[in-house]
Amino acid sequence: MQISQDMVVSIHYTLTDKAGETIDSSVEHGEPLAYLHGHGNIVPGLENALTGKTIGDKFDVSVEPAEGYGEHYAELVQQVPREAFEGVEHLEPGMQFQADTGMGPRLFTITEVNGDTVTVDGNHPLAGEVLNFAIEVTAVRAASEEELSHGHVHGEGGHHH
Ligand code: ZN
Repeated sequence: MQISQDMVVSIHYTLTDKAGETIDSSVEHGEPLAYLHGHGNIVPGLENALTGKTIGDKFDVSVEPAEGYGEHYAELVQQVPREAFEGVEHLEPGMQFQADTGMGPRLFTITEVNGDTVTVDGNHPLAGEVLNFAIEVTAVRAASEEELSHGHVHGEGGHHH
């Protein structure tokens, strides 16, 4: 069974950056990732590379930022006064919040707190990065009606609800 639109695909993946450091790996999580093919559950460059593959296929793919988590936008790194966070007692790097931008609502992460100045970054942490995936396809099956209506996979490796 070849991977195509509306298939439930299970993969083991290891994601490394350009220095070869592992960023994330399903092997460390213990079970493969299951996703619904053709529904934007995973980055487009990886989804495209999986089209037509089948169980047991192993391959490496390099995904450019435009097909991954997007380009890094310098204008999404901003310094804002602490008073912009009225009502938040304690601010520290790593805290996340949603804010409206000219590009629509985005998730911002606080990257630095320096006195009354807070630096926030609205880029995805992997924006601007080339993503190097090592992939093994471990299962392929047709999706259920319920999975298709939800747009994601249920059960093992997917959503439990
Ligand atoms: Zn669901």
